[in-house]
Amino acid sequence: MDHNVTAQDKLYIGGEWRRGRGADITSNFPADGSLNATLPGASVEDVDLAIERAQDAVNDPSWRKLLPHERATYLYKISEGIARHADRISHVQSRDTGKTLTETRALAMSASGTFRYMAAALETMEDALTPSRGNYLTMSVYEPLGVTAGITPWNSPIASDAQKVAPALAAGNAILLKPSSWSPLVCLELARVIEEAGLPKGLFSTLPGAGSIVGERIVTHKAIRKVSFTGGTETGRDIARKAAAKLMPVSLELGGKSPTIVFADADLDLAVAGVMFGIFSSTGQSCIAGSRLFVERGIYDAFVAKLVAATERLKVGHPFEATTQVAPLIRPKHRDEVEEHVAKARADGGKILTGGERPAGSDYKDGTYYRPTIIAGLGNDSRLCREEVFGPVLAVLPFDNEDDLIRQSNNNDYGLASGIYTRDFPKAWRVARALDTGTVWINTYKQFSISTPFGGTKDSGVGREKGRDGVRAWMAQKSLYCDLSQAPHPWAKSAL
Ligand code: NDP
Repeated sequence: MDHNVTAQDKLYIGGEWRRGRGADITSNFPADGSLNATLPGASVEDVDLAIERAQDAVNDPSWRKLLPHERATYLYKISEGIARHADRISHVQSRDTGKTLTETRALAMSASGTFRYMAAALETMEDALTPSRGNYLTMSVYEPLGVTAGITPWNSPIASDAQKVAPALAAGNAILLKPSSWSPLVCLELARVIEEAGLPKGLFSTLPGAGSIVGERIVTHKAIRKVSFTGGTETGRDIARKAAAKLMPVSLELGGKSPTIVFADADLDLAVAGVMFGIFSSTGQSCIAGSRLFVERGIYDAFVAKLVAATERLKVGHPFEATTQVAPLIRPKHRDEVEEHVAKARADGGKILTGGERPAGSDYKDGTYYRPTIIAGLGNDSRLCREEVFGPVLAVLPFDNEDDLIRQSNNNDYGLASGIYTRDFPKAWRVARALDTGTVWINTYKQFSISTPFGGTKDSGVGREKGRDGVRAWMAQKSLYCDLSQAPHPWAKSAL
């Protein structure tokens, strides 16, 4: 495999490769800090141009009049293109984000699956004939919104990009994609695939550039009819306020502080593996990271000891090593933030059971590595249990019984995900129904299926993505009434 990332210095705007007119964006390899690429980012003028081209493209009869199964063919081609170029996409994403090749390959294949699923969903969706309340037919049909946008974070770019672009196109819209400035490269690979698939020009543009300039312009532009955002809660709140001012629908997939629960009757090997995967895979840079661990008091000491021992055996290493389980964090600035959270936890009285530092040794000196960290001794009200760290840092807490557990788990501003480990299925069911989170995993964690809706409650967001309704979320519902009487309305008859 070619391990150089070719400097791609053009953006895909309105169906053409153009130099961005905004500030430069730099991408470095988190494993050693080497430069991947510097490219001029998008500007406000680039956003305006992309919108203008998108408006033309979305209204062009050659796209507007396509039947669903015809529109789906483009999505199938994009799905195949991503799969065909998966090695390249995975490599670029690993260079851009520091994720392991194993993970980025899985993300690329997930993106391919998302386009395939949305194409199939589109082909099989039905409009509704609603029960008639008079001598007329009533129908509910779905139509495209027009020009839409997706704004995505850096932690799983190709997968989160696909979760917005695929349903938006399936629904018949045009879409502008604004990726994070910290992971600008992989969206350009997606653009190449989309161009290769022959999608009519203008329907897709990708605009890496500063969120406060490019993102802001996208959100506030009158022509944008929907924004689907994945990112931090404060950014999401800001977008929601701006969307409210122009009465634009938004979907917000935000942060989390997800509880994982281990009951005394759990299969302990399965639970240890699931807890570690839930918090330490992706180096904890995951919205759904299981970052608060509640263990039933009777097994607390034994379970935590087993977990700490297993965590110390995890392989922290280079993203291109097949055996690596914990790769570097995305940027030095982000590692500084993780370290700050750990310092605060220490100051609050937290006891570091393992980790809490950078790994030592020459292999790690130039990369943004951080050891998987487990911290005990802090209450559920502590800063560590309330603030999203977005790194490999786990807080462990005991619980006494189901009521205590549910109260503590739900006592948090976030509500994205949760996990339960127990052999008692009725108990799992009871607890799952009581947890105030968008997703609950039982005896597993961080499993995803494009066919199953995803989203959060409370500060973790509003709206759902994925599933068949994922396409509907990008459409406007329209009601049709069709007269069957063929007679003038009785109210006006006397005046005729
Ligand atoms: P941010 O909120 O900082 O950024 C997300 C995106 O929003 C980026 O593309 C960013 O651009 C852009 N942006 C920033 N400011 C604005 C603005 N004023 N208007 C419009 N767009 C803007 O999040 P991170 O990139 O740091 O991602 C991490 C966060 O994402 C975590 O909180 C995590 O939990 C959450 N997340 C949620 C997921 C979910 O499905 N619930 C999944 C994955 C992550 P730029 O990079 O240029 O600043």
